[in-house]
Amino acid sequence: MSTPQFDVIVVGGGIAGLSTANRAAQQGLKVAVLERGAGPQYLCNSRYSGGVLHIAMHNAKDPADKLMTVIRDATSGKADPQLARALATTAGRAIDWLQSEGAKYIRVGNIVWQQHVLAPPRPIVAGLDWKGRGPDVTLRQLVANLEKRGGKLFHLPALSLMEKEGQCIGVEAGGNEAGAARQQFLARAVVLADGGYQGNPALVREHMGIDFDKVKTRGAGTGVGDGMRMARAMGAQFSELKYFYGHMLSRDSFTNDKVWPYPQLDELGTVGIVVNDAGERFVDEGQGGVFVANTIARLANPLSTWAILDNAIWEGPGRTARIPANPQLANAGGTIIKATSLSELAAKTGIAAEALARTVTAYNDAVAAGNTASLAPTRSAQPIVPSPIAKPPYFAVPLCAGMTYTFGGIFTDGDGRVMSTRGAPIDGLYAVGATTGGLEGGSGGGYVGGLIKGVTFGLRAAEHIAQCVNGHA
Ligand SMILES: Cc1cc2nc3c(=O)[nH]c(=O)nc-3n(C[C@H](O)[C@H](O)[C@H](O)COP(=O)(O)OP(=O)(O)OC[C@H]3O[C@@H](n4cnc5c(N)ncnc54)[C@H](O)[C@@H]3O)c2cc1C
Repeated sequence: MSTPQFDVIVVGGGIAGLSTANRAAQQGLKVAVLERGAGPQYLCNSRYSGGVLHIAMHNAKDPADKLMTVIRDATSGKADPQLARALATTAGRAIDWLQSEGAKYIRVGNIVWQQHVLAPPRPIVAGLDWKGRGPDVTLRQLVANLEKRGGKLFHLPALSLMEKEGQCIGVEAGGNEAGAARQQFLARAVVLADGGYQGNPALVREHMGIDFDKVKTRGAGTGVGDGMRMARAMGAQFSELKYFYGHMLSRDSFTNDKVWPYPQLDELGTVGIVVNDAGERFVDEGQGGVFVANTIARLANPLSTWAILDNAIWEGPGRTARIPANPQLANAGGTIIKATSLSELAAKTGIAAEALARTVTAYNDAVAAGNTASLAPTRSAQPIVPSPIAKPPYFAVPLCAGMTYTFGGIFTDGDGRVMSTRGAPIDGLYAVGATTGGLEGGSGGGYVGGLIKGVTFGLRAAEHIAQCVNGHA
């Protein structure tokens, strides 16, 4: 059994792991990345992503104080203040650092959150389209940079952490389908960057109470909670694990690969309304698509919901998303039911007709009177302003919840050090990216930004490790 010696072993070769590895190598540390996926374009959420580096839909280079407010508001004040400050104060530098590594950005007009989009950007089409796009190109660039700096990427799954007197001293890896032998990688620090647990049906059921089979995996499915399992064995602390980042998708996503991960259908359901088969609203659509997707996923039947809208919404917000439902959903063969009256819409969809008419009338009356807060369930009028459903034709789009990645996870401090259940950092153990929690989630919405979180905490963890190795921390 060979026993390589490294300063840092990183588990996972997504944007978080590769940022950590390169920043550590840049500071003279001996680094290796363990990545389960095979080949140069192994799948991961970073590769599937839309490539927009933003903080809660704001420019990640905004002043730190502004970003602190943005993060607080997006997460209903639930983001851990230390993590929020670390992100807000380092994100601008992270954007520049990634560019210095060779990433290229484009800016999409005056849209504040799309000032740093990894280039070349994906085209405005439905479905999955990642090969040769900005995130894919950037990841391959980061692997090349790491190798130039003397770092290594092993295509091996990490299995368990090695521990000595409460300190993490390495990782056991290997034993994969390709027949690689189990190996021990001794290191001064291990960084878990395995991407979350959204690909693990048992963990999704246990921590979220969600029927995995009735929620569409809106990502690569490669995050299966290995980091969480390994960290738990060393006594790690976890944040709230209940919520996920995701969107409303076409229910056809289960059978038609052209309608996911885009277009997301949030603009339809949050400017109009979302009802169940019984014709009733069941969620405050004004809290946004991530919140609505989390609510749909927890229904007794998550495959029973519809976005209901009129022609003004279809031709307005339906066309303004980055990859808009109108016309991308129809182009991809997604189901859109159109009718000249609500009763015809009910007949075509099987939604209870009387209840649908009652629900839409009550909603329209509340919108006209400016008191949607009095609806049951309430309908916030900000930040997403409700639009009446009054101009035929009317549309019904069958929905499902799409889960992109888990918000909750391993709890760290602002330098990525994994905290123990006793409230102290675990020696030698770090975690970064989507495997970590505490920053995002809030009350079910609370999206702060997966890519910027990965790069920022990757830099911070690598810099902390370098200080420790060099005896300055
Ligand atoms: C369709 C889609 C669009 C998105 N768009 C955006 C966007 O525009 N902007 C944004 O900010 N975020 C976006 N996100 C979210 C963002 O992509 C993720 O939050 C981020 O990429 C997570 O990075 P990561 O490095 O933590 O995880 P990942 O990129 O998932 O990488 C984790 C890696 O760990 C590996 N791994 C897992 N277990 C093991 C193990 N035991 N041993 C070794 N390796 C292991 C996996 O194979 C994987 O390669 C999007 C996500 C999706 C799916």
